[in-house]
Amino acid sequence: MNIANDNEAKPSPCPICKKGSALAYRPFCSKRCADIDLGRWLGGTYAIPAAPADDDEEEEAPRPRPRLISPDDPE
Ligand SMILES: [Zn+2]
Repeated sequence: MNIANDNEAKPSPCPICKKGSALAYRPFCSKRCADIDLGRWLGGTYAIPAAPADDDEEEEAPRPRPRLISPDDPE
């Protein structure tokens, strides 16, 4: 249960701009720098297509027609 102790200030500068990191965005100083780093990751290792287009799949399942029960219908 020593996790809380790690919250004490360990000055680790933002890897992007070398400013002091903010707790909310560790190890970055701001969301901007976090986004920059994320962008580098995505830019360098983007190999997976975002969303495979699966247009063949029908969303509506074919449903059986409702049978109209009418007295005129001979069985
Ligand atoms: Zn930064």
